[in-house]
Amino acid sequence: MFDLLLAGRVVTPSAILDNGWVAITGGSIAAVGTGARPQATEVRDFGTALLLPGAVDGQTHAGSQIGFAGMTMTSHAAVMGGVTTIVDMPYDHPTPVTTGAVLAEKVAAINALSVCDVALYGTVPTTPNLEHVEDLVAGGVCAFKISSFEAHPERFPRIGNSATLTLLKALEGRGLPLGLHNEDQEIVAATTKQFIAEGRNKPEDHSDSRPPVAELTATASFLELAASTEAHAHIVHISLADGFDLVADYQARGVNATAEMCVHYLLFDAAPDMARLGGLLKVNPPIRSGEVDRLWEILESGGATFVSSDHSAWPLERKTTASIFDVAAGMPGLEAMLPAFFTEAARRKGFDAASQMTAEYLCRKPAEFFGLSRKGQLAPGFDADVAVLAVEPMIYDARRNPLGPGWSAYDGQQFAVTPAATFVRGQQVWDGQFVTEANGLGRFVPRG
Ligand SMILES: [Zn+2]
Repeated sequence: MFDLLLAGRVVTPSAILDNGWVAITGGSIAAVGTGARPQATEVRDFGTALLLPGAVDGQTHAGSQIGFAGMTMTSHAAVMGGVTTIVDMPYDHPTPVTTGAVLAEKVAAINALSVCDVALYGTVPTTPNLEHVEDLVAGGVCAFKISSFEAHPERFPRIGNSATLTLLKALEGRGLPLGLHNEDQEIVAATTKQFIAEGRNKPEDHSDSRPPVAELTATASFLELAASTEAHAHIVHISLADGFDLVADYQARGVNATAEMCVHYLLFDAAPDMARLGGLLKVNPPIRSGEVDRLWEILESGGATFVSSDHSAWPLERKTTASIFDVAAGMPGLEAMLPAFFTEAARRKGFDAASQMTAEYLCRKPAEFFGLSRKGQLAPGFDADVAVLAVEPMIYDARRNPLGPGWSAYDGQQFAVTPAATFVRGQQVWDGQFVTEANGLGRFVPRG
C-alpha cells in the first residue's frame, strides 16, 4: 500500500506514459507504471495533464536584495512555476557565501523559510582563502561561482585571472564546477562610459553597450585558464551562439568545460523586445538581436548543458529608471520558466518533443550537473518532486503572486500549459491557485 498515487501522462527519461501513474511512499517515488493502478491511501487523478519531474532551476538569486529572508518569496515563485529545487547563487546581501559559517547560516534560513528544496553555490573574495573553500565543499555546496566583472565590490566582486587559476587548481579532482559570470571589466566600463557621454542611455542601447566581444573575451580567457588545469569550468550564461561554439571548441580539445543557457535568451530578441519592455528585460549579459534561432539549434544539438532562469526579482522601481544604465540587471523567471520554455519548444518541435526537452533540460540535466542524485527524474528511488502541467492555455499575470515583485517580462504572455499542481517530496505545495504548504518544508540539498 503506497501513501499517494499521482495519475496522468507521466514523462519519464525514456518515454511518455499515457494513463500512467507515480506511486509515492515516504516522500520518495516507489514505482512508476501505466495501466492498472496499485493501491494507495490517497489517489490524485490529473487526467490528461502531464506529470513532469519538478524542475531544478540551476540559477536563482534569492538573497541579492534582502538577504536570506528572500528565500521565502523566491521559493513561492518556484513552486508556482513547477520548480521544486532551486540552486541559489552565493551573492547575498550583505555577505556573500564565502565561509563555512555563512553557509551554515544560509542553510538554517533555507530549512526555516523555504517551501522548495535548495542547493547552494559558494564563492570566494578577491583573494581566495583555500581553507574556506575546503569548508564550503565539506558543507555541501554543489558548485562555486565567480565573476570576471564587478557588479558590487564586496557582494559580487571581480576575481582576477591569477585568483581564478588558484581556485581552479583547488577544485581539481573534486567534481565541483567553477561557474563564471562572463563579461570583461575594461571593455564594458569603457563602452558604458562612452554611451553615457553620447547620451545613448535607452533600453535599446543596452546590448550594444556590452558588445559581444566583452562576453566572448571573458569566456575565452576563463576557458584558457581552465585548459591548464583538470578542473571543471562552467559558463553560467551565454547570450551568443558564438559563445557556445567557443565552449564546444575547448570541449573538443578535452577541456572539462560546460555552458548554461538562460531561458530568456531563447525567448526574447533585443530588437523588438527592449523597446517594448524597456528596463524590465535588462539582464547581463544582455538579450541580443537575431540570436534566438541559432540558440535553439545549439540546444537541440546538445551544445548547452541545461537551461536556467537566472531569477532575480528586483522591485519595480529598480527596473524603471530614466537611464538604462541605472536599471538593476536581472529579472524574475521562476514562475514562467517551465511553461514558457515548454510553449516555445512545442511551437518549434511539437508537443511530445517539448515534453521530453523540458524533462531533460529543466530537470534531469541540471540535477545531474549539480550532483543532486535524488532529483530531476520520475523514476523509483528519486524524490517525489512532481510538476503537474495541465494542457490548458494560461495568460500569465505577474500580479497573481502576493509575494512577487508584481512585474515580469513574461506578463500577459499566453502559455500552452498551466502549472496546475506541484509536489515536493510527496507534499503538495501548489494547487494552481495557492501555495498550500507552510514555509519550512524545503530542505538544503547538499551535493551527493
Ligand atoms: Zn545569475
